[in-house]
Amino acid sequence: VVKLERRCWTEKEVRKTMQRRSPSSHKGMHGKGLVIGGSLDMTGAPVMTTKAVLRAGGGLTTLAIPDVIHPIVASQIVEAMFSPWETENGHFNGELGTDVSRFDAVAFGPGVGRESGGEKILSTLLDNAKVPLIVDADGLFYLTRLKERLKTRPYPTILTPHTGEFARLTGCSIEEIEKNRFQLSRKFALEYGVYLVLKGPFTIVTTPSGSQYVNTSGNAALAKGGSGDVLTGIILAFVMNHENLQEAISNAVYVHGKAADVLVNENHSMIDCIATDIIEGLPSVFRTLN
Ligand code: AMP
Ligand code: MG
Repeated sequence: VVKLERRCWTEKEVRKTMQRRSPSSHKGMHGKGLVIGGSLDMTGAPVMTTKAVLRAGGGLTTLAIPDVIHPIVASQIVEAMFSPWETENGHFNGELGTDVSRFDAVAFGPGVGRESGGEKILSTLLDNAKVPLIVDADGLFYLTRLKERLKTRPYPTILTPHTGEFARLTGCSIEEIEKNRFQLSRKFALEYGVYLVLKGPFTIVTTPSGSQYVNTSGNAALAKGGSGDVLTGIILAFVMNHENLQEAISNAVYVHGKAADVLVNENHSMIDCIATDIIEGLPSVFRTLN
């Protein structure tokens, strides 16, 4: 019988496992990342995810958005590249507008909304993204109908639900999830073969083999729209810069929470600290971890 691990992930583990940049590194070594997100009524979510990828060390970052929001999104980020995809009703129409095989990792979901095109995109990604695929936000809404496909996907999949999204994904009630966070996330990760990040205070990262790592940073400043979009970007950047996916994901969750802790101890409070502040809080976290 294999003993499954369940333990806290603290600053000690982060320091031990954080990726370091080599003096001779070049951008190609730090990952070509693709963020797919946004819709007419959610233009900010993919912007926050992409800015977080940039701040968390991604090498070359591309953002795929519905073509109708391309100008407003592109005007907010100068370091990324853009891939405007065809639209219907202000949402993706279901066709991928670029070859996803040229990226090292893909994140799908922030701001995509729930129109029918998104499901087709996720369905295509499950087959064509032969790299780590992160599914967040309304990407998880589409995944509810496609989840059986995860069982045979031969590449890593990382899901980042909050309690409500996990309830929808499992068919359990929110109360059941809250009472059995460890058991239900382990059951799901084992059954579907995914890395499951069950978000909330003390976020639990579960590996496809069922080991669990509990985050020890973060505070209620994060209980605001946009926080999760930022986490997705940090995970994307870390996954591309680390061999071990569990360490990459746990470290991403840790620095996200730690940025909120540092901000609340310095210039902010839990009341006023917002998601873009978390992105701007990353530099001081990275400086102290180095
Ligand atoms: P989302 O609900 O997708 O925006 O994600 C919210 C993010 O903020 C997740 O990373 C949560 O773990 C984190 N978060 C939300 N509320 C709290 C809280 N009260 N304490 C610590 N972290 C939180
Ligand atoms: Mg979210």
